[in-house]
Amino acid sequence: MSDAARILEDAEARLRPLHLAAARSWWDANVSATEENERRRVETELALSDALADPGLYRDVEAARTNGAEGLERRQLDILRDSLVAHQVPEALRHRIVELEAAVEARFAQHRGVVRGEPVEDNRIKEILRESDDVAVRQEAWEASKTIGAVVADDVRELARLRNEAARSLGYRDWFALAVATSEMDEGRLFATLDECDGLTAAPFAAWKAATDARLAERFGCGVSDLAPWHYEDPFFQEVPAAGGVDLTHVFGDADVVALARQTFDGIGLETGAILERSDLYPRDGKCQHAFCIDVDREGDVRVLANVAPDRYWADTMLHELGHGVFDLGIDRSLPWLLRDCHLTLTEGIAMLMGRLAQDAGWLRDAAGVDAAEAGELQARLDAARAAEVLVFTRWVLVMTNFERAFYADPEADLMALWWGLVSRYQLLTPPPGRTEPDWAAKIHVACAPVYYHTYLYGHLVASQLHATLEREAGGLVGQRAAGRLLAEQVFHPGESVRWDRLLAGATGEPLTAAHLARDIAAGLAT
Ligand SMILES: [Zn+2]
Repeated sequence: MSDAARILEDAEARLRPLHLAAARSWWDANVSATEENERRRVETELALSDALADPGLYRDVEAARTNGAEGLERRQLDILRDSLVAHQVPEALRHRIVELEAAVEARFAQHRGVVRGEPVEDNRIKEILRESDDVAVRQEAWEASKTIGAVVADDVRELARLRNEAARSLGYRDWFALAVATSEMDEGRLFATLDECDGLTAAPFAAWKAATDARLAERFGCGVSDLAPWHYEDPFFQEVPAAGGVDLTHVFGDADVVALARQTFDGIGLETGAILERSDLYPRDGKCQHAFCIDVDREGDVRVLANVAPDRYWADTMLHELGHGVFDLGIDRSLPWLLRDCHLTLTEGIAMLMGRLAQDAGWLRDAAGVDAAEAGELQARLDAARAAEVLVFTRWVLVMTNFERAFYADPEADLMALWWGLVSRYQLLTPPPGRTEPDWAAKIHVACAPVYYHTYLYGHLVASQLHATLEREAGGLVGQRAAGRLLAEQVFHPGESVRWDRLLAGATGEPLTAAHLARDIAAGLAT
């Protein structure tokens, strides 16, 4: 047995039961938030992270990588190394980072902005920004949504310093460089892709926003140049109203969205019965209010947690989560355990490809029973709404990712000026005059999900690129078994045996490109 084979066998024997225990207790804590479940979740996560911090294992893996390991052995060593790197930090520093992250997260959870003298939930702030015509109340709500920034800003800056210290102790320029490199991204290529997205969306976004601003100015009885960030519907201007105000209540109001999602996957030959049987799909007290899909054991135990209600949001979410699920189930089970996994950009791409169907006129007609005339009538409005969503979201990711790179390059910089400079440049918003609050710190991801935002944009790019391939090679997606077959064989089956960017190029015939996303946006806005 080669050194590499022995190291991999030992690593799998140690990590596999810890992964399984962490996945099971994560699931339990989310379906039932008891103290005991929460205690076990923390305990199993710590056990896993301690194993990943083992310096002996890291040394062995590094040595085996440079000793000419090849093929699947090399691939396993690479994946293993990436999962170990960030844990190879002096224990005291590692603990300080974890504790500070938890403290900041807790303050985000506890903080309430104040509007008209009353502390309010984030949902109430969003409701005001969606519905209120009173500009003074809107401004107060927007400002309230940012007050958390001042509460956490010093600690978020400190987190960046600590993360940088950790990254530098491992030989990386800063935390941004480490995070990108250990998720199989190349920083140069990442920013080339972001620049491509910027170039392709700048003009359509400016045109879309000019039309939106004209409508807002009319609604609020002011000039376009008087519009402030609180005139838009989202505190960060990161999204536009779902379905662009196209009311689909009559479609989903008494629909069984779980059955609709299942039939959609059946129609492309992808089985979801085994996932649904193990899933926990409906709201209940003491249960996590969001949705996720988890591959518990990489042996077929794949589950979805959701809180299904009969509406468009949950139709989208069930299609999305089952997209993750069929991916996990479709990974070749004869691969070594370390490779029975998938890269986030690909699984997010598949999930978005499926989730988007809930706003697709063809799917509404063929799967959800909307009559052909109405579906035809809805098509242009739905396509335009989807295009606007992607456009607005792309500009927002440009702000986040460029901010994070500059933030880790110099946490002591004038972050306020940096933030509003990027917001003005990419989102074309005008900073409120004289504003001095640390608005950059009000976005929870900067503190708690660092250097992750670009993954969402990549999911959109992958979804559009795969969709173009399915149109070309399988006659589309809905009801096309050839589409399911292509995804199963070209995307799911290889798991992590092939690096994600090569796998995508192999499946679609070209490297990752923003061209298909740009085409989807242009087609939607043209209608
Ligand atoms: Zn997802």
